[in-house]
Amino acid sequence: MLDALWFNPNEMLIGGTWKTAVSNLPLFNPSDGSLLAEIANGSAINIDEAVTAAQVARNGKWGQLSATERGRILTKIGQKVLERVDDLAEIEAYDVGKPLAQARADAVALARYMEFYGGAADKLMGETIPYLNGYTVYTLREPHGVTGHIIPWNYPMQIIGRSVGAALAMGNACVLKPAEEACLTALAFARICGEAGLPDGALNVVPGSGIEAGAALAGNPNVQHISFTGSVHTGALVQRAAGVNVVPVTLELGGKSPQLVFNDANLTAALPFLVNAGIQNAGQTCSASSRILIQRGIYNSVRDRMAEAYCNLTVGPAMADMHIGPLISERQKALVLEFLAKGSDLTIAAQGKLHDAPNNGAYVLPTLFENVTADHPLAQDEIFGPVQVLIPFETEEEAVAIANNTDYGLVAGIWTADGARQMRLAKSLRAGQIFINNYGAGGGVELPFGGIGKSGHGREKGFEALYGFSTLKTIAAHHG
Ligand code: NAD
Repeated sequence: MLDALWFNPNEMLIGGTWKTAVSNLPLFNPSDGSLLAEIANGSAINIDEAVTAAQVARNGKWGQLSATERGRILTKIGQKVLERVDDLAEIEAYDVGKPLAQARADAVALARYMEFYGGAADKLMGETIPYLNGYTVYTLREPHGVTGHIIPWNYPMQIIGRSVGAALAMGNACVLKPAEEACLTALAFARICGEAGLPDGALNVVPGSGIEAGAALAGNPNVQHISFTGSVHTGALVQRAAGVNVVPVTLELGGKSPQLVFNDANLTAALPFLVNAGIQNAGQTCSASSRILIQRGIYNSVRDRMAEAYCNLTVGPAMADMHIGPLISERQKALVLEFLAKGSDLTIAAQGKLHDAPNNGAYVLPTLFENVTADHPLAQDEIFGPVQVLIPFETEEEAVAIANNTDYGLVAGIWTADGARQMRLAKSLRAGQIFINNYGAGGGVELPFGGIGKSGHGREKGFEALYGFSTLKTIAAHHG
């Protein structure tokens, strides 16, 4: 049973007040299919109330704080998150089905985002611009006003950290709509923000359905910026709704990210990354590496070593903390099983094993397909499950052509000892992040993140996010 809850899960936070909704939604534990909690089914009216509360906060106490004062509050939130890391990890493990150690890493990352953006809040500067005689020209970075944050279920804490953290650092007031499948750590985080002294209305949290609450937030005329992470289909709907109000959006929509392994690669260093990047969080990761491109000379060796690693992968309940937990839901499991069926013409190199997994959990065996052609649906479409395909290639040119031949462009990894090739590939691969002889770089909060093509646009994380969550004003003073 979930013991770590220290708040009422069926409430939403609007203008500093915790309220119940007119109706509730059931929240399930994906590890065994049991009912975990009832959560608020926030309505379009609740979203309007939250946006109004955010406007009031912008015009009131929150809007009057200096950048340094905002930074102090964010830093304090980070400290309080660290104090509750174990509770947050347990809540997330039950809610998302994430193995406990992975859930704990997300809670630590949330704290780190708050520390980073707390420190950065008073360090984004404008500039002075040399201009005509008699003028002094300078620029100011200002908050958008009210920012909307629509987030998915796969990494709630990390995505809250990177988007709400940066938005608050710039002085925006936020309305957060967590995913209906997993929203408990969003509520826990909001409680922690209150304890740390975040003024009322600076952060509002309204759980609810995407169709009603999410759409109401995306199309709200009093929101000045939307940050969305999720599917391509929903991202396009959000962009369209925000477009009606000419509101900028940041879209982070997933990918089909490759790792390119050349004959001269250090396989001992590469192997853990090749596998983990595909199966972490049961493959439900936007930057999951679902395609492994292997040069012919080492193809059999890499396939055999990855297959051996797959045979040792265990799948079980989140609290048992194995390599892989369940998927988020029966619906996600059905989507992934559909993809596995599309691979019935392919050869399976290896699969993992279920271990003490309850019958009603949303479990799928991690599956490694070999000798896959670059145009196969499993090599083209985002699966969002623990499935990887191995694609052989002969030359560097062929590897680049295969790597760039999907609709996505989020991240890519290169494994080679050849420095000139590293530099060539870093330029020619279409992706928002390139990793050389590593993959993910430890997920650093400091590293700007986002994609091109159907992976979305705009950048979150790092200092770069502060530009996205602010607007630039140019002041030209004529003094003769
Ligand atoms: P989704 O994109 O529909 O949901 C993400 C968020 O958007 C949730 O908070 C949801 O309530 C909200 N939403 C849904 N419809 C909306 C609408 N019309 N207007 C505004 N907000 C809306 O994703 P999903 O259905 O949960 O998952 C389906 C697929 O999406 C997955 O299989 C995966 O491929 C992809 N996905 C990607 C990411 C990522 O990190 N990029 C995360 C989750 C899902």
